[in-house]
Amino acid sequence: MTSKYADVAVAAPVEVFAVSAAFREDTHPEKVNLSVGAYRTEEGNPWVLPVVQSVESKMAADTTLNHEYLPILGLPEFRNASLKLLLGEGNPAIVENRVVGVQALGGTGAIRLSAEFFKNIGKAETVLVSKPTWGNHMGVYRASGYTDVREYRYWDAETRSLNIEGMVEDLKAAPENAVVILHAVAHNPTGVDPTHDQWKQIADACEEKKLNVLMDIAYQGFATGDLEADAWAPRYFVSRGFEFVSAQSYSKNFGLYNERIGNLALVCNTTDAMKRCSSQLELIVRKIWSNPPNHGARIVGTVLNDPSLFNEWQNSVRVMASRIKEMRQQLYNKLKALGTPGTWEHIITQIGMFSFTGLNPSQVDFLVKNYHIYLIKQGRINMCGLNHGNLDYVAKAIHEAVVTIPSDQA
Ligand code: PLP
Repeated sequence: MTSKYADVAVAAPVEVFAVSAAFREDTHPEKVNLSVGAYRTEEGNPWVLPVVQSVESKMAADTTLNHEYLPILGLPEFRNASLKLLLGEGNPAIVENRVVGVQALGGTGAIRLSAEFFKNIGKAETVLVSKPTWGNHMGVYRASGYTDVREYRYWDAETRSLNIEGMVEDLKAAPENAVVILHAVAHNPTGVDPTHDQWKQIADACEEKKLNVLMDIAYQGFATGDLEADAWAPRYFVSRGFEFVSAQSYSKNFGLYNERIGNLALVCNTTDAMKRCSSQLELIVRKIWSNPPNHGARIVGTVLNDPSLFNEWQNSVRVMASRIKEMRQQLYNKLKALGTPGTWEHIITQIGMFSFTGLNPSQVDFLVKNYHIYLIKQGRINMCGLNHGNLDYVAKAIHEAVVTIPSDQA
């Protein structure tokens, strides 16, 4: 048999999924997966949050619920509660009715909506992303037709910290009205966020070049364990009078990865502008997924709107954040105890789910081949892949990798 698709080119695999697939196939008893961006318990398992489980049980027993289409923009109680979570209940943008939420297919869907929105209203042709950034930012914007995709300096490999001067310089060199994607909190992959003072400098640059800001917030709660503190940046941008969008994801902080639940918040200066933009967003959604799925929105909406469930959820977020912090400290302690060459302070100063270890691609290869420890070539590790059972093994392996393949010989 022949196929008319026989000459279709095989696309490159998506690294993080390919690494996880290789991990699954590996039969080594001590294998460790540090690649995937999902929370794992001390036992190395995914975690269905107890509050999610109890809401789902109630939903299953509730005979009044049905599977009718949701409105194009999504479940209203979910969208409104999402805005409050992002901006704070009494935020002027909410009180003055000049912010709208659009339910989206995860954070990724919200980012895609932002790209379509800025393109459709004719505000942007260029997008700027941090160097490095989450692997999909460029892809999603390119898929929306942006051909001018630029990187702004962010990570300084030498100091293992934020290159704020470079970042501000690059933002100021951007064409007016370009889109800029900023990570609101727990930067992926570096785990390095701007300080409040640095955010002010970033805001000044965005204001000067009239940039269209997309604040990507996929890890609210994961940096400090405090949902309010982690939303400082978008709230600051509102206080500065910015009109901007923010892509919220509930994949990580609710553990609802495969329910594809997110929200795009659009803050305007007037109710009239918000309504105009909202009508455009409605058309965009109609043409991409028509209307969103219900399950995740109902779970998140129920929890966010009920003070006692909210409290329970907040405690689970704290549990996840503090387990990650503990793993950081433990890995650091073990590398110090082993006398592993190089400085490792960044493991404890970085925040969020990931650590940008500074391991080079050859060292990563060494870990995979010799120790069955899986991580992506960038050297980013998911701290939740660590637990008390594998910490010694991973620390020893990193030590061996660094001693065997010095960084300058990579
Ligand atoms: N933005 C960043 C920075 C991320 O790391 C991720 C997921 O890893 C997303 C957005 C997308 O999240 P979702 O799985 O909700 O689409």
